Amino acid sequence: RAVGGSGALTEAMIARLQRDGAELTLGDAVTSLVRRSHGWTTRTASGREIDSRIVVAGCHIVTTLDLLEAGGHDSAQIARWRSTIRVGPGIGTAVRLATDALPMYPSADRIEDGTHGLALLVRDRSQLRLAHGHALAGDLPPTPAVLGMSFSALDPTIAPPGQHQISLWSQWHPHTLADGRQWRSNVPGERSLAEFEADRIVAELDRYAPGFAASVLDRFVQSPPDIERELGLIGGNIMHLDMSLDQMMMWRPHPQLAGHRVPGADRLYLTGASTHPGGGVTAASGRSAARIAIADARAARRRTFFGRKRE
Ligand SMILES: Cc1cc2nc3c(=O)[nH]c(=O)nc-3n(C[C@H](O)[C@H](O)[C@H](O)COP(=O)(O)OP(=O)(O)OC[C@H]3O[C@@H](n4cnc5c(N)ncnc54)[C@H](O)[C@@H]3O)c2cc1C
Repeated sequence: RAVGGSGALTEAMIARLQRDGAELTLGDAVTSLVRRSHGWTTRTASGREIDSRIVVAGCHIVTTLDLLEAGGHDSAQIARWRSTIRVGPGIGTAVRLATDALPMYPSADRIEDGTHGLALLVRDRSQLRLAHGHALAGDLPPTPAVLGMSFSALDPTIAPPGQHQISLWSQWHPHTLADGRQWRSNVPGERSLAEFEADRIVAELDRYAPGFAASVLDRFVQSPPDIERELGLIGGNIMHLDMSLDQMMMWRPHPQLAGHRVPGADRLYLTGASTHPGGGVTAASGRSAARIAIADARAARRRTFFGRKRE
């Protein structure tokens, strides 16, 4: 059984899960994970209680720790893990655009060279270092480091004929600004910081592809707090946790929680961006967690079988 928020599961994934006999429930958040002698009881916001032999948790590790604590797991231990896991300050702002043209980069020999891949629009490393340093200090990047993605150039079916869908991802933008400014204004009619920042991001692409800004028909802006609120990504960090060396591999999300297991919470398996190899759409951590869960189940069956034989 899969229980989840309103994440984007593609139709193909849903069909595959159902073919394999899965039961899927969306929009019913898990509220606690309770260890029982038979395995786990998962409680949800709608009041359901689901019993299972194992649980594979794909949400943020901090969320999983909250769910364990709500289910009666050792609070002191959870507080120790929580205090050393570094989420990071949030890493970017997304601007999704509807346009009537693709960006035309004069520096690209062919249109496809600029639109059939990721276009990282930075002049040099110092621009990246400045943007990163400002974000660490809780400030906006002096010049946004923009990544341009022209998805409709690769798949025209995602936009109406003659139009395009362009996504811009800009790093680094802190979730919380040191000077107290808010990303979204509470004053009706006042333009928010998120919208100003989106203007700067579009203008930055326009510097590399002159005329692009005039092709924008509509846009949807997601600042780090928007990403946190809409997608449950704590701190707006799309990788769940800082992808720094001290939190990668056997240190992700924490040395004691690596290996997709939680000490003292037998048959709970961790997966997703909070675990090795981190964020991004690779499915690698899901494969590892599944292999470990299957190996454990086989070992348990063997123990039962040989135990019975000895009796
Ligand atoms: C704007 C943006 C641009 C990105 N660009 C790229 C890119 O170009 N390339 C790339 O590789 N990656 C990109 N990423 C990152 C990538 O999407 C993520 O790292 C990846 O989706 C993480 O997947 P996940 O399944 O581990 O976690 P998530 O996608 O965070 O999924 C966790 C799920 O758990 C659910 N959940 C949370 N709490 C509960 C609860 N209590 N009960 C039940 N369910 C719960 C959430 O609703 C969510 O569906 C981007 C992300 C964003 C937001």
